[in-house]
Amino acid sequence: MTHSTSDRSLRGADAGPEDMGLRELQIAIEAMYLDRDVARGIDGTFMWLMEEVGELAAALRSGDRKLIAEEFADVLAWLATIANVAGVDLATAVRAKYGKGCPGCGQVPCVCSEAEKP
Ligand SMILES: [Zn+2]
Repeated sequence: MTHSTSDRSLRGADAGPEDMGLRELQIAIEAMYLDRDVARGIDGTFMWLMEEVGELAAALRSGDRKLIAEEFADVLAWLATIANVAGVDLATAVRAKYGKGCPGCGQVPCVCSEAEKP
């Protein structure tokens, strides 16, 4: 998948006041599930994340917009779950890596060659 600046871009879109933000999401997941998540551990939780990624793939193929949105939410929630168990603050990690442009070239938009991962 490439990061596109096509008409699908959310920049300039009205995200709405209900935008939860990464930290709020991670805190909410922690409040709801931390004890269970810690007991399950990183390995078991990672398996759940992979299952949800598979469900996201199926949803994207289905074209069902409601289902697609739900599966994106599930993948992000399971990612936040693993971050909780691993003791990683997602908001800090994302800002540190992507807050100042592409981590490869430092530019917005990215000017890395197509062969490079970013
Ligand atoms: Zn780049």
